[in-house]
Amino acid sequence: MSLQTGEPSFRQSVDLMFTRAAALMDLPPGLEEKIRVCNATYTVRFGVRLRGEIRTFTGYRAVHSEHMEPVKGGIRYALAVNQDEVEALAALMTYKCALVEAPFGGSKGGLCIDPGAYSEEELEKITRRFAYELIKRDLIHPAQNVPAPDMGTGEREMAWIADQYARMTTTDINARACVTGKPIHAGGIQGRVEATGRGVQYALREFFRHPEDVAKAGLSGTLDGKRVIVQGLGNVGFHAALFLSTEDGCRITHVIERDGAVENPAGLDIMGLRDWIATHGGVTGYPGGTYHPDGARLLEAACDILIPAAMEGVITIHNAAAIKAPLILEAANGPVTAGADDILRARGSVIIPDLYANAGGVTVSYFEWVKNLSHIRFGRMQRRQEESRHQLLVDELERLSADSGIGWTLSPDFKQKYLRGAGELELVRSGLDDTMRAAYQSMRAVWWEHPGVTDLRMAGFLVAIGRVADSYQAKGI
Ligand code: NAD
Repeated sequence: MSLQTGEPSFRQSVDLMFTRAAALMDLPPGLEEKIRVCNATYTVRFGVRLRGEIRTFTGYRAVHSEHMEPVKGGIRYALAVNQDEVEALAALMTYKCALVEAPFGGSKGGLCIDPGAYSEEELEKITRRFAYELIKRDLIHPAQNVPAPDMGTGEREMAWIADQYARMTTTDINARACVTGKPIHAGGIQGRVEATGRGVQYALREFFRHPEDVAKAGLSGTLDGKRVIVQGLGNVGFHAALFLSTEDGCRITHVIERDGAVENPAGLDIMGLRDWIATHGGVTGYPGGTYHPDGARLLEAACDILIPAAMEGVITIHNAAAIKAPLILEAANGPVTAGADDILRARGSVIIPDLYANAGGVTVSYFEWVKNLSHIRFGRMQRRQEESRHQLLVDELERLSADSGIGWTLSPDFKQKYLRGAGELELVRSGLDDTMRAAYQSMRAVWWEHPGVTDLRMAGFLVAIGRVADSYQAKGI
């Protein structure tokens, strides 16, 4: 229990959520504890010569569960990174991978650094040094431990890590599979940058395909016209907000950022706001909405869907009772503490939990890893063959129409869409959509049918723990 917040730490919070679900399961003696504990955490302190002095940095790589290898999980750059946090995030990765059937154990890494305080050249030096420390201990390895981007890191850092690995293991033909979230020209995959936000969109679409589930949140209808609050317009929040507003008719009424929030009841222009933040460093002064300096207070504003997409621990025992959103989707990891979760559940709010809601990133990372190991882009072999088969059908339909004198013509728009074979981006989106639908359906079946299961989080943990337990039991500990 933290004296500052009066709540359990992030890792304890994840453990409490785990234990609540595990209590409903009939696991063999001792297996519950084996699954719950974090297997190992490596702490590294290393020096980098910068600006005429040696600066010492602290980083972590936690491995929560190796029931499947490689283990998988992002690397985060933030000043607040600590062992408790990486262990909580690594545990969530185990459950997330199990829920979306990505064949990985859970891991997470972090470096205590304010990335904004360093130039690109300095960050490259620091990242390569951090990667070196992890690579030489096999904590970055295509068969053992595969990082990805998280808060404060992106394609650029992943490309440096991949290059560092290739330099240190010159004969490893699978070197590129040592990390995911790389840029396309360094072995990445189409659709990875948008993947977590895209997954959020697919998760909400699937939720709204089930009117009984929507009714549990006191909502009705479709996503069209729903009022949405997004906290954090970074990688995850930006893509989720963009897709929901431009493709599903949602109105993003509030965006909450570090320096405050902007509000526009008619719906914010997400592209415009993103550009503003990129040039001005924050939402302050954005002309397309009303500015509020106390951003966090707007988590409590009236809306249909609240999407915390910034960081953990933003909905706590101190503000949970004031949250008005009937539906909360956890795009960030751990945004709702265990105590807040109790309050919100008692009030009847529906929470689409992190272990499911932000699993789009690891899902597409899985596709990227497979692509790297198979050394071929998805769709490369079958695309033109698919197109020629479709062309055959179109030609035959047009011939039949002409011969029979019916005079049908296929619209050019239909022809264009039907004839186009799927490329990598279409295949990635299709695989992601299928994954998000299947995972939601496995959770909701437990939510509706398993005695004692009160909410989607509990259901998600039950499915995930069951799969990890099956894996341990099948192969032994
Ligand atoms: P990011 O660094 O790209 O974006 C985070 C955003 O949140 C930034 O715009 C930042 O300014 C904002 N922010 C930070 N602190 C804030 C605060 N106190 N109030 C309001 N805004 C704040 O990070 P990201 O990759 O988008 O990750 C966000 C969350 O999603 C994290 O919890 C991360 O673990 C989780 N996540 C990320 C991925 C991924 O693929 N990147 C995958 C799964 C989960």
